[in-house]
Amino acid sequence: MTRVAVIGLGNMGLPMAVNAVKAGHDVTGHDLAPAALEAASAAGVTVRASGPEAVRAAEMVITMLPAGRHVLEAYDELLPAAPAGTLFVDCSTIDVTAARAAHARAAGAGHRSVDAPVSGGVVGAEAATLTFMAGGEEAALTAAEPVLAALGKRTVRCGGPGAGQAAKICNNMILGVSMIAVSEAFVLGERLGLDHQALFDVASTASGQCWALTTNCPVPGPVPTSPANRDFQGGFAAQLMLKDLGLAMSAAYEHGVAAVLGQAAADRYARFVETDDRVRDFSAIIEDIRGATG
Ligand code: NAD
Repeated sequence: MTRVAVIGLGNMGLPMAVNAVKAGHDVTGHDLAPAALEAASAAGVTVRASGPEAVRAAEMVITMLPAGRHVLEAYDELLPAAPAGTLFVDCSTIDVTAARAAHARAAGAGHRSVDAPVSGGVVGAEAATLTFMAGGEEAALTAAEPVLAALGKRTVRCGGPGAGQAAKICNNMILGVSMIAVSEAFVLGERLGLDHQALFDVASTASGQCWALTTNCPVPGPVPTSPANRDFQGGFAAQLMLKDLGLAMSAAYEHGVAAVLGQAAADRYARFVETDDRVRDFSAIIEDIRGATG
């Protein structure tokens, strides 16, 4: 049993906190939003009125917050309040620079830290099947793994501080680009009179094979569980894809990488979320491609 504090009880943080309770950990939580506190309390999490109160007796603090500035602001409040040597695990998706700053602030306050962004979305958070991409010192990673094992199915050690965030944005840049590539192929196939299933049968067993095609197929039919079969509801929101592409492009710019396709994908998703329901699955980009003329 570990005393765990979860800060940020939103779409992801709440089910993670609930799974930590189910695994037998002593869980306290805090969120700035009163509605989130109420929902967490109803789900069996012991809620506290402030972050410092929630972490006062914690052995491990999990943060699940919107962006880097929220994490750094929260750390400034939480680090002095936690017992010396507390393990801080930030599971938010944030920029690598902020993640490294968070590690440095934690170390400066006498704590251990890990960056551990996730893939798997809300469904994975609820089912405890998340994948954690973890960065930090080896000893901190080892200390974090038993609790993360109750919240997900896999923790991948990516390297030192910030390496988890780096892996996450690189992976999601591949995903954003490949979803657009798969969607363009289906739309071109439509114009050529090619059946969706026929293109799927070829590409899914040939060199076009990728997750955007075989798991999250942007047309209904070939993969019955993909969001395209339910008007793109309940998947990975297009606005979150845009967020992750933005983080990747900032890092590419900062480090002088000519990520031409990543930038094109970021631009396309930026236009898309201006006109579409921002929370539909990112594979709805196929509708934008269908509507555009070449
Ligand atoms: P969310 O907006 O539902 O939840 C964030 C919560 O943090 C909110 O309830 C907000 O009130 C709270 N908060 C903000 N600042 C706070 C502070 N200082 N102290 C306490 N609470 C604070 O967001 P989410 O969907 O749960 O996403 C959280 C993180 O996980 C993001 O970084 C997101 O990119 C990442 N992520 C989300 C998904 C997904 O499918 N939702 C998938 C992978 C990664």
